Amino acid sequence: MRALILATTLLLPGTAMTPSAPATASRLEPLRLGRLQVWKLQDGRLSLAVSLLKGLDPAEARRMLGGRDAADTPVNAFLVRMPGHTVLVDTGMGKDPEEDSGHLEAQLAAAGVAPADIDLVLITHEHFDHIGGLVKADGSRTFPRAVLRVARREHAFWTEDPSRLPERLRDRAPKLKALFETYGKAGAFRPFEDGEELAPGLRALPAHGHTGGHTVYAFTSEGRELWCIGDLIHFGAVQFQHPEAGVAFDLDGDRAVKVRQELFREAAHRQVALAGAHLPQIVRIAPKGTGYEAVPVP
Ligand SMILES: [Zn+2]
Repeated sequence: MRALILATTLLLPGTAMTPSAPATASRLEPLRLGRLQVWKLQDGRLSLAVSLLKGLDPAEARRMLGGRDAADTPVNAFLVRMPGHTVLVDTGMGKDPEEDSGHLEAQLAAAGVAPADIDLVLITHEHFDHIGGLVKADGSRTFPRAVLRVARREHAFWTEDPSRLPERLRDRAPKLKALFETYGKAGAFRPFEDGEELAPGLRALPAHGHTGGHTVYAFTSEGRELWCIGDLIHFGAVQFQHPEAGVAFDLDGDRAVKVRQELFREAAHRQVALAGAHLPQIVRIAPKGTGYEAVPVP
């Protein structure tokens, strides 16, 4: 048995040792909601320490994570085919030599889509694990035919007045400006206003708190709803039951909690499918105790 395990490890480096790494050999099948086809594309993974959770007894959080001190979390992008558009929500971390990342293009191929097929790229917020795949190693656009869209408030939050940011984040402004200008130079960067309808059946919902202009993308088709919720939640095993718990990266922690509670209430009421950048599955939620129970969408 040990020999077999070793052989498997050698044949499939990374796969046997990291069970949550993306499987790209086989074709990825979409989830169908009305006329939407939705693929969860796992670009990489991050280990999130329990100590990042705020507003919850750490012992309780550790118990909910099966006694572990960290949660192994995916970094997802979502591909949505809708009438008239092929949309990518977020772009993962990109290729980082120190992380298990940069699988987005292989995942897209497994979904049967080439980067040039995508006509709309939507960014939930400008953290590195959501924008890392926008450009290739040579600095050119990964998605040459796509219009890149992000909330005007989010882009301004990072780039217009860095003095409002925590000191450790101020050096990001010039890098983010240059990154988005890669699309801007081609006339393909269009920031939008909060609440704007981006296409029929696709709306941007302001969900500020995690960052200054964090956005949820709401897709509707034939009465079915999908929300790509970005970083509205990081620890699926903890924060559905405890939506009052925040994470250290929420730049406005109180607001992030309030927005999470409001959007969870609405999503539970309307049976919205929730696609989270750091959730292992697309889920629907139902009230349970003082929080929610998440059930994977089949
Ligand atoms: Zn994130």
